[in-house]
Amino acid sequence: MKIADYSVTRAILERHGFTFKKSFGQNFLTDTNILQKIVDTAELDKEVNVIEIGPGIGALTEFLAENAAEVMAFEIDDRLVPILADTLRDFDNVTVINEDILKADLQAHIQNFKNPELPIKVVANLPYYITTPILMHLIESKIPFSEFVVMMQKEVADRISAQPNTKAYGSLSIAVQYYMTAKVAFVVPRTVFVPAPNVDSAILKMVRRSEPLVAVKDEDFFFKVARLSFVHRRKTLWNNLTGTFGKSEEVKERLTRALEQADIKPSVRGEALSIADFARLSDALLALGFA
Ligand code: SAM
Repeated sequence: MKIADYSVTRAILERHGFTFKKSFGQNFLTDTNILQKIVDTAELDKEVNVIEIGPGIGALTEFLAENAAEVMAFEIDDRLVPILADTLRDFDNVTVINEDILKADLQAHIQNFKNPELPIKVVANLPYYITTPILMHLIESKIPFSEFVVMMQKEVADRISAQPNTKAYGSLSIAVQYYMTAKVAFVVPRTVFVPAPNVDSAILKMVRRSEPLVAVKDEDFFFKVARLSFVHRRKTLWNNLTGTFGKSEEVKERLTRALEQADIKPSVRGEALSIADFARLSDALLALGFA
């Protein structure tokens, strides 16, 4: 029997008198087939270290510990620490760290892996209320994670993996795809969790690119241009740019030149632009003094 078997999960929750905290996004997986599929998607072996965010009572952690070299699991809820010590007592390759992942000094923690040289993958059933901040925190930590295989709200997984000219495409797609490839591996129905969330979920697999997708002169400005181009999704790029940079004749003249240089029509909408288009646009704007 596994921790994630429904009857085992129920028994653990009862034995420890655990009550769910909605504010921590606590929806525990009770489907061992899905857990096996997550581990298969992550292509784990004993030469890979894993960081897990939010182990809960250890449903996924158990599968990770069986399949990876070592697991470091960050859990914010201190009530879960003694429960995890109980449910994972048979494993000597799991470390539970009772910290908020958004505040954790990951660079320092990963030095504590027994073999810090191994590639690190992030595998997690994320707390949905902070999916995007967690991903950006991990990506921006500059730790060379080789892969993320993470469960999130399906709608967010669709946005991250979206391509231009779709409704889901936006600055989040660009922020992630700049660094990583992103593909929905499979969809998970809400019925396999206790308690059931009110949205469906998806497993998103993101693999770090050896280099960012495009070369840009100033990354922060590139992300800013991507964000501002979607401020009003239904407006043209021109309207979003003048909304941010101003509408004086002098600004409009420089904007026109930048768009010409980048070979982009002012009448397009942000959602029509590829990541390469945004790179050319932000470099041209930068060259004309817009940063
Ligand atoms: N991995 C378990 C499973 O699949 O059954 C639980 C997943 S549950 C969706 C999310 C977990 O993240 C909960 O255990 C919650 O307490 C934890 N959590 C929420 N916010 C967190 C944070 N900022 N840092 C670390 N863990 C967090």
